[in-house]
Amino acid sequence: MLRRRKITLSVAGGAAALLLIGGGVAWAVSAMQPAQPVESTQATSPMPSAEVKPTTEPPKNEAPKYDLDSPSSITVVVNKQRPINPIDWAPDDLVLPAGVPNVWDHPIRAEAATALEAMYAASVDAGVPFTVTSGYRDYALQKEIYDGLVEQGGVAFADKDTARPGFSEHQTGLTVDLFGEEGCSLDACFGETATGIWLRDNSYRFGYILRYHDGEQATVGYTYEPWHFRYVGVDVATAMHDQGVLNLEDFFGLPPAPTT
Ligand SMILES: [Zn+2]
Repeated sequence: MLRRRKITLSVAGGAAALLLIGGGVAWAVSAMQPAQPVESTQATSPMPSAEVKPTTEPPKNEAPKYDLDSPSSITVVVNKQRPINPIDWAPDDLVLPAGVPNVWDHPIRAEAATALEAMYAASVDAGVPFTVTSGYRDYALQKEIYDGLVEQGGVAFADKDTARPGFSEHQTGLTVDLFGEEGCSLDACFGETATGIWLRDNSYRFGYILRYHDGEQATVGYTYEPWHFRYVGVDVATAMHDQGVLNLEDFFGLPPAPTT
């Protein structure tokens, strides 16, 4: 009983210090406790020790470790300053999501496809079925799109809304562009449609996040794209939703990537 109470106090003290002067303190508080007394191995110890055994366990509040760099990681962060490495990497587990309307039959990675199938079924139940207008795009296709835009309006024009080859989330195979029965495909007005609103509010339950929110350009590098959903897994998507964090850069403590 005593031991439990002491541990509780220790954690509470650590938490209070944490609030005052930041992270790492909880561990320091634990570490400052007196050294653990040598325990008697005598079964016939005359009296129970009144000494409280200090905890030597660090607090269980360490953030999980995520792989933000490997191109095959579902939490890889790709933005205008973090290209896919190697730059022409391609996934080896691309599949066509089953039963999901898909304009160009673009595949995505298997895990993201399974999640998309579940999200599609839920969207049908909610009366807001969506269609995929873009999924995996390889390095060569992104280069074609980007070079076409450069030709059309110059580098600044192309960079405004289109990733350079090797810098597109679509090349990870974890990203889809979606639209609904109300139209507004690849248009900001999609965010005001019932489908766009449902996806924004519910995608986290399936491991997808709206990647480029309105007003986040200084961090994510792109203007508002209410149609662009990135699979990061249910754990991360739910944590972001619950904490109100709008982008991966902030969630993982990465620097903003407004430009190339
Ligand atoms: Zn997109």
